[in-house]
Amino acid sequence: MKKVFIFLLLMILILSGFSYAEMIFNDVSRLNPIHVRQIIQPTTIEEIRSKILEAQRLNLRISIAGKRHSQGGQQSCEDCIVLDMLSFNKILLLDVKNLIIRVQSGATWDQIQRYINPFNLSLEVMQTSNIFTVGGSLSANVHGRDVRYGDIRNAVKSFRLILADGNIVNVSREENLELFRLVIGGLGLFGVILDVDITLTDNDVYEEHDKIMNYKEYSQYFKRNIKDNPNTWLHFASLSISPDDNFLKEMIVTSYQKSDRKLKNQNLSEEMDVARNKFFFGLSRKYSWGKQLRWYLQKVLGEESKGGQLISRNNAMRNPVKFLDYYSSKDTDILQEYFIPVDRFAEFVDGLRGIVKNDKVNLMNVGVRHVPADNTGYISYAPQDSIAVVLYINQKISDKGKKDAKAWTRRIVDLVLKCEGTYYLVYQLYPTREQLKRAYPKIDEFFSKKRFYDPQEIFMNKFYETYSQN
Ligand SMILES: Cc1cc2nc3c(=O)[nH]c(=O)nc-3n(C[C@H](O)[C@H](O)[C@H](O)COP(=O)(O)OP(=O)(O)OC[C@H]3O[C@@H](n4cnc5c(N)ncnc54)[C@H](O)[C@@H]3O)c2cc1C
Repeated sequence: MKKVFIFLLLMILILSGFSYAEMIFNDVSRLNPIHVRQIIQPTTIEEIRSKILEAQRLNLRISIAGKRHSQGGQQSCEDCIVLDMLSFNKILLLDVKNLIIRVQSGATWDQIQRYINPFNLSLEVMQTSNIFTVGGSLSANVHGRDVRYGDIRNAVKSFRLILADGNIVNVSREENLELFRLVIGGLGLFGVILDVDITLTDNDVYEEHDKIMNYKEYSQYFKRNIKDNPNTWLHFASLSISPDDNFLKEMIVTSYQKSDRKLKNQNLSEEMDVARNKFFFGLSRKYSWGKQLRWYLQKVLGEESKGGQLISRNNAMRNPVKFLDYYSSKDTDILQEYFIPVDRFAEFVDGLRGIVKNDKVNLMNVGVRHVPADNTGYISYAPQDSIAVVLYINQKISDKGKKDAKAWTRRIVDLVLKCEGTYYLVYQLYPTREQLKRAYPKIDEFFSKKRFYDPQEIFMNKFYETYSQN
């Protein structure tokens, strides 16, 4: 009888969709496992609204998730209902004449690129790769490699937002401007972004040019040759991770310039050589000589592109990313990004070199790009023209690994603050509240606006829980 009862109970749990694994939510870094009450994948606005009203009635919390690539619990909180937006992903309208696309917020950049490429259109702003959702990207206020357009806010015409009281509002520079400034970069704390009108541009042909230089030359080079060069559209650089005299000194600098030459084929490219790239990346995760080898290979490939290879804008904005997938129960890869005023770049790199060496940080890649000054948001990560330095790091998952990572991250943030820079809020919550306040002097105003628009604090995540209390 007892066995029959257990069997029936199990059947009921399985049929009702219960799975313990589903109730543990994590982000891509695997460093923030958390128990959540429920994960739902809404496909209609009514489903989203009814969850919000249920949370209101029962005093529950809601967090919102896209592709879960923010890495500090920005999409979750203990015992909350997670709205996983990936199935809310329709492309609603393409206005070719006015260069606008309207999409639901769970759509990814990849989906949009596939839709607009046949029209020879391209996104103005997105991250370096195309795996992210539109909602997650707006909520982080992302930036990429385009030196002309700046952050994603500049490519958003308007969006609809469902607020904590269940009402839907239009948000743009003309309507509800305050919400426009708060929600883009607002980490899902003000409501659920429903659909977004995004501005597009032409899928031009670019010529790629690579150059090798010393990091001390870079700020001047950037100001003279990139910033004021109307022909340069995409730009990025890498700093050497090779553990020799070149460590954090030598740079490969890449620019894409508009070309009048024609491409035979503008089809979208798919990621190639994943296994090969994963292999070499893996070597650099484990061995110093692997780091040296990877930097050497990067330089050889760079040399080959000196002649000005042609590429479409869409293909230049589909950076390979699958080779980064990594699973180990002992360690994981994390990202960090620091925004440094253009003229303080070399000073920052010198300080960073010291911290990485002293603290034995397993640094696997250092990307460099530009973010133009923007003060139109409530909390702006680039209040002045900045060079963004992106660190790709392998860290241990153990408690000691986390403790060490927290300590050296705080040292890096101190260095950043000394250089009058800021840091990206979508990564691990290692910096202190004091550091956050120094980097973002309006953060407490931002938190009180959150309480104004959401007095019951229905929309919740670990970022808000960690930093909003004095
Ligand atoms: C490998 C890698 C490369 C990256 N490259 C770049 C880069 O080039 N440039 C850059 O700027 N950033 C970059 N990032 C950071 C990334 O852009 C952000 O973490 C972004 O938020 C990820 O989008 P997502 O779909 O994964 O969102 P998630 O991580 O799932 O969510 C991010 C935030 O958005 C909120 N949110 C999600 N959907 C909605 C919605 N519909 N309504 C309201 N709020 C919502 C969530 O609550 C959360 O606070 C990178 C991250 C990784 C891991």
